[in-house]
Amino acid sequence: MVGEGIASARRRVDRLPGQSLIPVAGDERPPSTLGPVVGVLALQGDVLEHVRMLSLAGARAVTVRHPDQLDDLDGVVLPGGESTTIGKMLERYGLLEPVRARLRGGLPALGTCAGAILMGSDALHADGTPSEQPLLGVMDTVTRRNAFGRQVASFEGLLDIDGVPAPPLRAAFIRAPWFERIGDGVEALARVDTPAGARVVVARQGHLLAAAFHPELTGDPRLHALFVEIVRAQQS
Ligand code: GLN
Repeated sequence: MVGEGIASARRRVDRLPGQSLIPVAGDERPPSTLGPVVGVLALQGDVLEHVRMLSLAGARAVTVRHPDQLDDLDGVVLPGGESTTIGKMLERYGLLEPVRARLRGGLPALGTCAGAILMGSDALHADGTPSEQPLLGVMDTVTRRNAFGRQVASFEGLLDIDGVPAPPLRAAFIRAPWFERIGDGVEALARVDTPAGARVVVARQGHLLAAAFHPELTGDPRLHALFVEIVRAQQS
């Protein structure tokens, strides 16, 4: 029985030896010919989970690690992780400037948690002092890293998000930032109540969407669906 299970699992994976399980931008066409091609930056973070959510949201998801793969994309997701590390890796892989240029040139992007920090123009430490770290600086936002403090460093909650139809989305905050300031051209799509008052946790600046939480972890693809809508609107 076990052997049969393995055999049928093998039959379902239709690929050539050496080919990645997840399509890679530029290497091969994604499995479906429908839907926009959305890259997931695959340096650190929940790459597979974002790929899954994007597929559920009607996009063809591919992984991205090299600057020349950016040409193939209709949109890109910048996953969470540790923003200082991801920023340094973007520099080392020669991706920081090309990604910045593509985003400034109109490529839609969804940044989650550390990805949201990277998209901002400035970042602060939890205590409010400036954090010197490589940033893309494409959104007019200042984020406060690890903003929710130690006791609630990680929590889940139900979040009403403008543009995401009811019911509220279950959101996982993991050592999450919040948006300390957003510029005039930036919309606040969701807020969380804190002892210090309501804080912005989802922000949108045109084709750029940034969320302080991890929308890939709770099995609900509706934030990715909002992003795919933004990607489709940019295509037409
Ligand atoms: N605390 C991390 C940072 O400041 C972000 C956490 C996350 O992406 N889950 O970079």
